[in-house]
Amino acid sequence: MNLPVFENMGVPLNRTQRNAIVDFHQLLYEGEIAIKPVDRCFCGAINFRLLSRCDRFELPFGTKICRDCGLISQTIQLHPDSMPIFYERIYWPLVIGKNVSESPVDAFVTKPKNDETTSYVLKCVESLKKQVSIFEVGCGAGIRIDRLKTELTNLGFEVKAFGCDYSPDALMQAQHKGIEAVQGGFREISKFGKADILILSHVFEHLPNLTLALEQINNLLHNDSLLYIEVPGVVDLENKSEYGFNYQVYCVLAHTYNFSLQTLCNVMSRGGFRLVKGDEYVRSIFVKGKSKQICLSAYKEIIEALEIAYKKQSALDAKRNRPVVKYLRNVAKALLGRLSI
Ligand SMILES: [Zn+2]
Repeated sequence: MNLPVFENMGVPLNRTQRNAIVDFHQLLYEGEIAIKPVDRCFCGAINFRLLSRCDRFELPFGTKICRDCGLISQTIQLHPDSMPIFYERIYWPLVIGKNVSESPVDAFVTKPKNDETTSYVLKCVESLKKQVSIFEVGCGAGIRIDRLKTELTNLGFEVKAFGCDYSPDALMQAQHKGIEAVQGGFREISKFGKADILILSHVFEHLPNLTLALEQINNLLHNDSLLYIEVPGVVDLENKSEYGFNYQVYCVLAHTYNFSLQTLCNVMSRGGFRLVKGDEYVRSIFVKGKSKQICLSAYKEIIEALEIAYKKQSALDAKRNRPVVKYLRNVAKALLGRLSI
């Protein structure tokens, strides 16, 4: 089954999401939000294959894969200067479909992997001294860093926890958990010093300038600190039922890159980091140091993974579109009042 260019599979939107898109377009029109084309891969190459023409909301933020290294970039991306206003005003209502003030506390976090009983980074903490500062950039309501703080405290560590996020409502919830939190990103959290453990969970794939990000990450870490990076791994799409295995649904305008473990390692090694442990979910732990792994192209592996996911998506779509199933699903939706949203 050949991989198509994904272009028309918008997900149904509720009123809050439609309003967020109207607000987004207005900010774009007024010049408060800017966009820019992506001409070159992070590796320097310009030889791309187009994967999609728009994101899950049918906004024209397509994606393309570098034929040299396999890193997936967008065709156009939000300008770095537009990030604060985008995350403060647009991102959460658009993605979760609710206004921030009416959302439950766990809305501002991507849930850990289903079988993750303890934080992944705990596998590597033996080498740390007993007093640790843990930082999370993009901490949302602080659920993940709060969990790690508790786990480390139970292991006998003395823990100070610091976070930052662009959303003031999410931050307020983090502060209630005892996380010292500041509005902003890397620059703002650096006022707390350096981290022994830095968490970037579902953040790294949102960053518009990887060279700058690697520099900022480097500045936040001691030589023996641990860096935990979690991103939605593209090679794992065949296991991600939350997207219906559908690459179009997986894509969202806020994701400036899609990573596999290999393409993430390639980028991190350019910044002076080596992988200690990682999987294709992707959950990964890096430390400062020269990588022994050579930068390998992940192009073939990623295209094969997308083909497998596309087969699963097609089978699922065929099942969902059987007339009786479709009718009963609509009946259920009507009974639940979802059609009135
Ligand atoms: Zn490349």
